[in-house]
Amino acid sequence: MDFQLSDEHRQLRRTLREFFADAAPVEDVARHDRDEEFNAELYRRTAELGLCGMAFGEEYGGSAADQISICIAVEEVARASAALAYAWLPTATFCAKGIAGYGTEQQKKELLPRIADGTLRMAMGLSEPEAGSDLAHLSTRAVRDGDEFVVTGQKVFTTGADTADYIFAFVRTDPVARPSRGLSVVLVPRGSEGLTVRPLRKLAGQATHTCEVFLNDVRVPKDNLVGELGQGSEIIFGLMDAERIYVGAEGTGLGQGALDMALAYAQERVQFGKPIIEHQAVAHMLSDMAMDVQTARLITWQAAWKLDQGLDCTLEASMAKVHGSEAGSRCAARGMQILGGYSYMVEYGMERYWRETKLYEIAGGTNQIMRNMIAKQLTRRGL
Ligand SMILES: Cc1cc2nc3c(=O)[nH]c(=O)nc-3n(C[C@H](O)[C@H](O)[C@H](O)COP(=O)(O)OP(=O)(O)OC[C@H]3O[C@@H](n4cnc5c(N)ncnc54)[C@H](O)[C@@H]3O)c2cc1C
Repeated sequence: MDFQLSDEHRQLRRTLREFFADAAPVEDVARHDRDEEFNAELYRRTAELGLCGMAFGEEYGGSAADQISICIAVEEVARASAALAYAWLPTATFCAKGIAGYGTEQQKKELLPRIADGTLRMAMGLSEPEAGSDLAHLSTRAVRDGDEFVVTGQKVFTTGADTADYIFAFVRTDPVARPSRGLSVVLVPRGSEGLTVRPLRKLAGQATHTCEVFLNDVRVPKDNLVGELGQGSEIIFGLMDAERIYVGAEGTGLGQGALDMALAYAQERVQFGKPIIEHQAVAHMLSDMAMDVQTARLITWQAAWKLDQGLDCTLEASMAKVHGSEAGSRCAARGMQILGGYSYMVEYGMERYWRETKLYEIAGGTNQIMRNMIAKQLTRRGL
């Protein structure tokens, strides 16, 4: 067992840390958050750096990065700007992996190079008003009509749908089959007739809008089907282990960001004649933050390593998702305490971490659903 990162991994972390310090300073991220304005320039520069093509091969303009590299990138993106992560991750991992793994050659050739160069973005259209955790019971219908599908229904919480070129939509194509068997994935293009997208007001990550999506007899070319008809559940659940590992890495990155900020502050802020880090209560909070970040990172990297080896990692991915997200939330809460009243002030950036971390306990499968899965895996194969 080797706990050392390779030179390449360390270099990747250094490069990204320096890049985001320059491209996404705290005040810029806070301004985009306040103005609820997507930072297209930051997305373009992130693609230029190669981050949008990490999940697929060179033949389509990607770099086929290993999972530890992707986790390092996810940590650094989340630490810099969760709003960027909200736009980048669905496109560059979930949807890109879906197309690379299940798409037709034509879809791969047309879409993946544009994902890699940052000129094409996608949104994940899974959740519906009546189907959140229980996705198998979603009701958006796609009915074949000649060379097209006619899609009707409603999605909710579709992040980035207002600016994405396509919604990677999970739809019901067979109403008679068992709920999980009659589902498929279709790519719904932006601007389609009958498609209405409405941004929702939300707690955090405002620079990338989370939207309601209404599909009213939207006609989608039959060639926009990803995978086979009825293969939707296999596709979505096949992508979920990776997605959960990346949520763990997002929580880790936010936790690391909160720790870095709190550590710097605690060394500078003087009360009762000494830096507050010399007050044991503050030092202990920093120690707890460091332990949370480190354990979240290790559990996430172990799951990532298993995924890379092609090993069953559903248990580890679920644990990484829960522990990474909750570690991130605990770190942000402690960071708020350490910065005292200044933590509440937008210009310091800590309140943004505090608001942002909550999402990761909810999205990508709530932590209750993840705990159900962990227990199920324990009875199946133990720890
Ligand atoms: C900001 C934001 C961005 C999002 N982005 C996207 C996106 O881009 N695409 C997308 O498709 N979705 C997205 N989501 C949706 C997200 O994935 C869902 O919110 C999540 O899956 C939970 O679904 P729900 O909100 O309907 O909660 P529900 O499923 O209604 O759950 C409500 C509560 O009941 C609990 N619960 C439900 N069933 C069980 C059970 N069997 N056992 C134990 N507890 C249970 C849950 O854990 C939760 O506490 C986003 C959500 C948010 C808030």
